[in-house]
Formats: sequence, structure tokens, C-alpha cells
Amino acid sequence: MTTSTILLQCLLVIAFVSVSSALSIPDPLKDVPSFVNPWHPFKNLSGCHMGENRTGIANMKKYLSEFGYLPSPLSNSNFSDSFDSEFQDAILSYQRHLGLNTTGYLDEKTIEKMVSPRCGVADIINGTYTHGRNLYTYFEGNPAWPNTSRDLRYALIATSASTIDVATLRQVFASAFSQWAAVIPMNFTETDSAQDADITIGFYSGSHGDGEPFDGPLGTLAHAFSPTDGRFHLDASETWVATDVTKSSSDEAIDLESVAVHEIGHLLGLGHSTIEEAIMYPTLTVRQRKVELTQDDVSGVQNLYGSNPGFKGVAPAGVAGEMDSSGSAEIIRGGLGVLLGLGILVMTVIL
Ligand SMILES: [Zn+2]
Ligand SMILES: [Zn+2]
Repeated sequence: MTTSTILLQCLLVIAFVSVSSALSIPDPLKDVPSFVNPWHPFKNLSGCHMGENRTGIANMKKYLSEFGYLPSPLSNSNFSDSFDSEFQDAILSYQRHLGLNTTGYLDEKTIEKMVSPRCGVADIINGTYTHGRNLYTYFEGNPAWPNTSRDLRYALIATSASTIDVATLRQVFASAFSQWAAVIPMNFTETDSAQDADITIGFYSGSHGDGEPFDGPLGTLAHAFSPTDGRFHLDASETWVATDVTKSSSDEAIDLESVAVHEIGHLLGLGHSTIEEAIMYPTLTVRQRKVELTQDDVSGVQNLYGSNPGFKGVAPAGVAGEMDSSGSAEIIRGGLGVLLGLGILVMTVIL
């Protein structure tokens, strides 16, 4: 185990402990957190299992539906509060995708993961998932930027809703793009012109015109569209931090660069990974910094674009463009699957 791996694990433990202490509410009437996490009520369902009928399960079904684990309810009907077999299957699928133990009930670790802030892009739709292997994923059809697009331009087009000054935002996004540019033969350059840009980045609140409204503090943090759409949206309601997030005193502090590195992965064509350490894992805890690509992220993106000649790591077998024909590499059918069907490459993802 490398020093950096140990350090990362330590950071994750610290983040986990701090989140646990911030979010646990032994007495909901006495110790209500000062911020509103839309998924916090899931904590009341800890321990819930097959056959139970508990208030709040309907909301969790809605959550699982949003991220691709359950079909949307028919119009005019809502989800029930019943822990039925379909819900159990969805829980199992969620646990599989998030790299959790597949217990099939709402154990503590599953609940902790569900209340964690995350990317708005769906993990899966139509029940496709990895079979016992941890892997990066792609969007349906493996969309990627064409060979003629190796010098992508990005523009910060909506920054007024951000509390971070533009000069700092520029540094953060440049640094985030550089993580990916180091491993694939692709350059990213900022431009002031949205018309000239391949990628546009902006901060928005609530509904903002793409059918994927943001939900206020925590919950969904950001989302980005698959190639070659180029849109990258951040929830303006988050407490974005561009300084050392691990030292932030806010219980809502979210590291901007960590989210940016993740969303750029989506912009390049990567879906969510089941490996918790990977950049493309869908959740991030408050005060967590995670900007270094893992081998899983590198393998995924190099299989789409090949390796940067200057990349010193180990290139994955089959670079580039070769897909795992065994079906082990999961294809995301759409967080934005519906939109994909309309010819709009989007992701409802998440992070
Ligand atoms: Zn959006
Ligand atoms: Zn994501």
C-alpha cells in the first residue's frame, strides 16, 4: 500500500467521521442540523428491511428512481412506503454500484452513502450493471470527442451566482482540466467566448432549463453532459470552497476542484465508477478533497482517447478505443437515457 493510498484512506476516514458527527441526530427534535440536506431523513430508515412499511420509503424510492435504480412511477401514482421486492432489488443494485456489501436491507453504511452529497448524473438505468467487477463506465453508445477534437476550449459563462472570485475559479478549473490532460493527448484552453467554446461551465440554482433542477445545499452538487454536448453545471446553492476544504469550519463545505475533476470526466465520456477511491465514484463527503485520478479513471479515459505521450504511468491494455466485449464494462443507459433517446447527450449524473 502506498503512502498516498494510506493518506487518502486517512482523509476518507476523517471525512467520514466528521460527516457522521455532523449528520447524526439521536433526537430529531433536539439536534437538527443547521443546514438542510434533502436526503437527511433517510437516516430514520436505518435497519429497515424486506416486508416493512415505513414512512419515508416512498421518498427513498424517488431517490433511487432519480439515479436509475427504479423506473419512474406511472403518472398519477406515487411510490408506496412498502419495502417490497422491487425496492429490495434496487437496494441491492445500489449497493453493488457503490461498492457496498450487498445486504439487501438499509444497513448503516448504505444509509451513510445515500445521505452523502453526490453528482446529479444517474448511475444506471434499465438495470444494467457490472457483474462482480469494479470498473469505470461509459455512457450508452460510448460517446467521446472525435479525433479532430484534441484541443478543447472551455468558457466560464455563469459565475455571478458563485461566491468565489473569477480569478480563483479560473485557477481551479485550469487545475482540474490539467489532471485529465496529463494522461490523454488532449489540451484544454480557456476562452472568454461562449460561442467559441466546446465546453461551458456555470453556476445555477434550482431549475435552469435542462430538466435537471438543482436541489439547494448538499444533495445533488453538479452535473455534466456526455460528449459532445459540453455543458457543465454546478449548484450555486452549495458552499463551494477553493481553499483547503479540509480546514473549513462549514458543515456544508464542498471542494470545488474535486467536483470539477469528476464532472470533466463526464464531459470526456466517463460514467460512474464503483470504486470508492476513483474520481468517477458518484459521492463526495463534505470537506473531502479528491483530485488525483486513480488507475481506474486513467484506464477508462485512455481507452477512449489513448495515452498522453508524456504520461509516465501504466497504460491500460487495449488502448485505445477498445471496449471490454464481455459486457463487464458498464454502459450507463442514461441518467439521461431518456434524453439520449432524443439525441441529446446528457447525464443526469450526479456529482
Ligand atoms: Zn443543468
Ligand atoms: Zn458524476
